[in-house]
Amino acid sequence: MTEFSKSGQTASDLRERPEGGAGESEGAQRPSEQTRADKAAAAAIRRYQGRKVLNRVSGIDACGGCGRRVLDPETGVIYARSTRGYVVTIGLVRCGRIWFCPECSGAIRRGRTEELKTGALRWLAAGGTLAVVVLTARHNRTHELARLAAAMWGAPMLDADGAPVRDRNGKPRRVPGAYQTMLTDPRFYGRPEAVSWWERKDGSFGHSVRAAEQGIRHRIGYAGMVRASEVTRSLEHGWHPHTNGLVFLGGKVNGTPAKGKVAGYFTPGGDALEEWEDWLRELWTGALAKADPEFTPSTDCYTRDCKCEGKGHGVMVKLITSADDEALIEYLTKVQDGKAPAASVRADLDAASGAAMETTRADNKSYRGQSMTPFQMLYRLHDLEVARLKPARAEGYGTAAQCRIWWAEYESAMAGRRAIEWTRGLRGHVQLTGDDSDETNKAFVFEQDKNQELTGGVILTRDAHDKVVDGDAELHMQDVIKTESYDTAADVVVDLGGRADHVRVATAEQLARVQADLYERVNAKARKRRSEQQVAEWMAKYKPAKSALAAPVEAVNLLAHIRAARHALTVQ
Ligand SMILES: [Zn+2]
Ligand SMILES: [Zn+2]
Repeated sequence: MTEFSKSGQTASDLRERPEGGAGESEGAQRPSEQTRADKAAAAAIRRYQGRKVLNRVSGIDACGGCGRRVLDPETGVIYARSTRGYVVTIGLVRCGRIWFCPECSGAIRRGRTEELKTGALRWLAAGGTLAVVVLTARHNRTHELARLAAAMWGAPMLDADGAPVRDRNGKPRRVPGAYQTMLTDPRFYGRPEAVSWWERKDGSFGHSVRAAEQGIRHRIGYAGMVRASEVTRSLEHGWHPHTNGLVFLGGKVNGTPAKGKVAGYFTPGGDALEEWEDWLRELWTGALAKADPEFTPSTDCYTRDCKCEGKGHGVMVKLITSADDEALIEYLTKVQDGKAPAASVRADLDAASGAAMETTRADNKSYRGQSMTPFQMLYRLHDLEVARLKPARAEGYGTAAQCRIWWAEYESAMAGRRAIEWTRGLRGHVQLTGDDSDETNKAFVFEQDKNQELTGGVILTRDAHDKVVDGDAELHMQDVIKTESYDTAADVVVDLGGRADHVRVATAEQLARVQADLYERVNAKARKRRSEQQVAEWMAKYKPAKSALAAPVEAVNLLAHIRAARHALTVQ
C-alpha cells in the first residue's frame, strides 16, 4: 500500500501501473480494450449510480431530489429515444451542483469546457498567450477541508458569535483566500495615479501627484484568468484542494483587466514571465503561511529529476502558445468521457501535473492508488452497499462509514463555492457573454435533453416513476427504450407494483407536444418565481426605515379618512 503513496510518483505512473490491490475497481477493463462508446456508456452508468447514492446521503435538499423529483406532476416523466440512439429522460428536477452531483457535473463541465475552449482559441488566434497555473497547499491527514479551502479560496467573514458580517449593502463579507490576495496584490496589479491635497498655513491648498505605477500584469499582458478548482483525498495525505488556472497573457490592456479593453497583443518577454512566476510563488506561499504555517507549500525540491525542476510543489506554471490545446482545455475542466488528450500536448500536461500529482479530470478519472475524487466516495458506497462487493473489489478506499463522513465534510466545506470562475471582464476580451452563475450551470444540465430530436418513447405518471426510482429500475427502463420495446415498459412498472395504465406509449409527434407543453409550464412557473423574487427584493430595498410605524400610521389615517367621509355624508 505504501508503494502507491511514494512521493514523486506522477499521475501517469499511476495510470501505467498494472492493476491490483485495494484501488482496483470491479469490472474495470484496460482502456485499450474498450471502445469510446462503451467507455462513455460505462461512465454514464457510474454517474447514475453515484447520483443515486447522492440522493440518499446528501444533506443538501436539491441533491436529495436530483433525478428523482418530478418537475411537473401533470406531465409526469418522459423516457424517450433520440434519433442518435440515446435514451433521454425528461421532466425531472435536477440539482445542478457541479461539486456534488456526478450527473449534473458531467453536463455542466461539458458546457463550461465548450465555453472555455472557445475563449482560449479566440485568444490564441488573436495573438495572445496562455499559461496553465496549478496552485496547491501543503496538506496532511489531520487538516480539515474547510480550513484548507478557506486558506486557498476565502471564506465568509464571521463575527465573534459566528454570525456572518455584512457590508453596507447587506452583502455578506468574505475573508480573502490566497487566490483573492493574488489577484489584488499591488506588485502584480500596479497602482493607479494618486493625488493628495493638503492645506497650507495661509489657507491655500497644495497637492502632489504620485504617478501611476505599472505592475507585473502590465509586463506580461495579463487580461484575466479562469480558475477550475478541485478536491481529491488521499489515504496518506488527506484532503488535497487545488486550483487549475488558465491565465490569459500577452494582451495590451487599456485600463484594468476588469473594465478595460484589449487594444492589441504582444509576446511577453522571458524576464517578465520569470518575474511573474517568482512573484506568484512567493505570494502564494506567503499567503498560505499566513493562514496556517502548516499549509506552506514547498518552494524547493531535492527529488532527482522531479518535474517541478526544483521549484517546489505549491505553484506550477506552464506556457501555452499553440492552438493545439484541446487537451489543455480538458485538463482545465476535466469533462468529456473517453476523449483522450492529443499526444503532442500530453507530455506538457504530464509535466505540469506530475510533480504535485494533480488530477487531470475531476469527474471521471480514477486513481488507481490510494487517492480518490469525492465522486469516487459515492461510487465506493454504491459498490459496498448496493452492489455488495468485497471492499478490495470496490472503487476507492475506506469503510462505508468513513466515506459518508468524508462526503459530509466535503459537502459542508464546498457548498456555496464556485468550481469554475472567470475573472471579471475576461469573457468580454474574447467576445463571450455569459456568467459563472448557478442558473447558467443549470441551463447546461437541461440543455442536453432539450436539443434532442426524439423518435418515440413512453410517458410515466408520477406514481409509475416513483416505482421505478424506488426499485432502482431506471437502467432497466432505459434498456426498454433503447431497444424500442415500448410496450414492455408497462410490464416493468407492474413488476415493481405499479399500474399498467400509468404508462403511456407515445409517438414522436405526441412526445414533441407533451415536451413543448412541459417547457411552457415550467417556464411560466420560473417566470412567476422570478417576478415574485423581484417584488420581494424591491420590497426589501424600498422598505421605509421605520417600517414598524408605517402600518399603524396608515391605518390611523385611513380610519380618520373614513370618519371624515362619514361625517361629510351625515352632514349632507
Ligand atoms: Zn444533480
Ligand atoms: Zn519536485
